[in-house]
Amino acid sequence: MKSVREKVVVGIDLGTTNSLIATFSGGQPLVLPNALGSRLTPSAVSVDGDEVLVGSAAYARHATHPNDTALVFKRDMGADLTRKLGRRSFSPQELSAMVLASLTRDAEATLGVEVVEAVVTVPAYFGERQRQATRDAAAIAGLHVERIINEPTAAAMAYGLHELDRELKAVVLDLGGGTFDVTVLEIMEGVIEIQSSAGDARLGGEDFALALAALASAQLKAKLGHAPTADTSLARLREAAERAKCRLTEDEETDLALPALEVGGAAHDVALSFSRPEVEVAWAPLIERCRHPILRALSDAGARAADIDEVILVGGATRMPCFVRLASQIFDRLPRRDLPVDEVVAMGAAVQAALKAGDAAVEDVVVTDVAPFSMGMETSTLLGQREVRGLYTPIIERGTTIPVSRVERFFTLASGQRRIDVKVFQGEHSLCKDNTFLGSYQVKGLPPKPAGEVGVDVRFSYDLNGILEVEMNIAGSDKKEHLVIEERPGKLSKKQIERAREAMAKLKFHPRDTLPNRTALARADALYVELTGLARDELGAHLARFRAALESQDSALIDETRAQLLAVIDAFTR
Ligand code: AMP
Repeated sequence: MKSVREKVVVGIDLGTTNSLIATFSGGQPLVLPNALGSRLTPSAVSVDGDEVLVGSAAYARHATHPNDTALVFKRDMGADLTRKLGRRSFSPQELSAMVLASLTRDAEATLGVEVVEAVVTVPAYFGERQRQATRDAAAIAGLHVERIINEPTAAAMAYGLHELDRELKAVVLDLGGGTFDVTVLEIMEGVIEIQSSAGDARLGGEDFALALAALASAQLKAKLGHAPTADTSLARLREAAERAKCRLTEDEETDLALPALEVGGAAHDVALSFSRPEVEVAWAPLIERCRHPILRALSDAGARAADIDEVILVGGATRMPCFVRLASQIFDRLPRRDLPVDEVVAMGAAVQAALKAGDAAVEDVVVTDVAPFSMGMETSTLLGQREVRGLYTPIIERGTTIPVSRVERFFTLASGQRRIDVKVFQGEHSLCKDNTFLGSYQVKGLPPKPAGEVGVDVRFSYDLNGILEVEMNIAGSDKKEHLVIEERPGKLSKKQIERAREAMAKLKFHPRDTLPNRTALARADALYVELTGLARDELGAHLARFRAALESQDSALIDETRAQLLAVIDAFTR
């Protein structure tokens, strides 16, 4: 089915909780389904013996096999650590690579063509290391990354596609599971210009679920004299709170039922009820925290709330009515949600992919972006006789329109100084130790002259992919040196990528065609652990019927019993 000649560039939203893959077809972005028919693939990897599961089946296994399952690894991208699953250890890049490979396989199955190139989105606040780690992940998955774009930029592109003839200023509010991102942008004559971005990397829908769990826990303490403390009880409470939180988006009131929950050493059938206003009181501090990045992004863009023509919501948690209210209050208008909040980033990535592929439908779209953080180098200064080291001198300031190239000249501090250490950092703090180290290089061979008479020009070039290149040149000489970015922490060498690719090729992934069965089993197993009494018996009976059908290899019977099993699961986890 694969054709080598036909190739397609896809857009991928590699998310913390869910990932999506989209293509551009008939002038529109189109999000593609996975093997289960869903457009959302959980960013989850689980190892079962010598078999690897990716997506929903892996996510469901987390409840029963937490030590063999990895979630939220996007947060670790660029960090020097590994996760042990089963007998093997995986880097965050390898885990992300498995998600990328799974999305790619699904897209190939749907499109019937080979997918080798992709536009991948990353959060605007992702630094150099995390962006490089994302590229490395794609390389391990055998994908060439055509472009890395910021998630809010992608969202703007998805909307911008329909607004090209309008002149407007917009703000993108992206509240995902774990992060909040705010971006101010302008669309003018088909050009999307990102003016500022700000965010809170530790604020998301998950925090609202935890706040609701804390509220439930306080009520249990008042009722039973104890709050739940056992790990399993806390995990169940958090899961139930997550589901209740989502129900409160639609309903004014909801129940939170946890049969046989262990509290204070005994099992209790917990049944609590919450009204939306009551829960919103507990959420008020979180909603207040959402205000800060919004105000900062506005002020960085030199805009007032009243200047904003459109408020665009992105991310699952922007569905919450209290969030919609906050956005409406600040901007004095109803936010736009005409594109699905979960899919808009992937759709925008597909628009960018179409741009790359030269699709006529998008030929008028141009995007400019800004550097989401400052980048600079370490300098020293003389205070009297004392040399003060470790000072941070930004060269590219946060908010600068990219691509950008800036050069600055630095002078020797001591007479006869023959070399200069160029240490590159990213961040906003005045001292380097508080910023993120990106790499260093030693410029040698400076002519021996009195202090301050030899200069080194340091050029920082930051491209649209968010990749920084540093070039150094001794003033007055032709010799140019490039910063050996290869050596920076977290970045994989070509060899390491090759090794990781080979290792991944040896892994046994669960076959696509039986993934729906495997996923249903994993979900049922996870729920079975949680349930007790009659509910457990009912689930157990359906599970047994499904297992028998699998043994029989009768595909009609398998499909029928699987549908029944999933209906029971959905009823219990509503
Ligand atoms: P994302 O990272 O964009 O997939 O967003 C995931 C977050 O959105 C999670 O915290 C979800 O709980 C949250 N979310 C998804 N659907 C809803 C909903 N209907 N109401 C409230 N939060 C939701």
